[in-house]
Amino acid sequence: MSAHTLQLMIVLTVLSFIGNNMNRPDKEKQHYYCEYCGKKFPDVRQLTSATCPRHPDGSNKGHHKLYEGSEKQEYTCKYCGKKFPSIQVMTGGQCVNHPKGTNKGPHAPAL
Ligand SMILES: [Zn+2]
Ligand SMILES: [Zn+2]
Repeated sequence: MSAHTLQLMIVLTVLSFIGNNMNRPDKEKQHYYCEYCGKKFPDVRQLTSATCPRHPDGSNKGHHKLYEGSEKQEYTCKYCGKKFPSIQVMTGGQCVNHPKGTNKGPHAPAL
C-alpha cells in the first residue's frame, strides 16, 4: 500500500466520521409534552399510559394528551393569545376566553 493510498483512507475515514455525527438524530433532545398539564416525557408511550392531574374530565380521570406542536421558547394560548414560558405554567392558569366561559378552564397551547 502506498503512502498516498493510506493518506486517502485516513481522509475518507475522517469524513465518514464527521458525516455520521452530523446525521445522528438528536434523540436526547426530543421531548414530548402533555397538552393538559405540560409534563415532559421521553416518549409518547409513557405519556399516554399515565393519568393526567389536569385532565379536563377531572384530576387523573384520563390519560395525558400529547401536545403535537413543536418545542418552543414561548407558548401562546389558542383562546386568548397570552404567552407563557412553558405549557406547565400556561395550563396552571385559568383562561378568560375559555370556550366553556370566562375562567371556566385553563389556557390551552396553540400548535
Ligand atoms: Zn397531563
Ligand atoms: Zn388563554
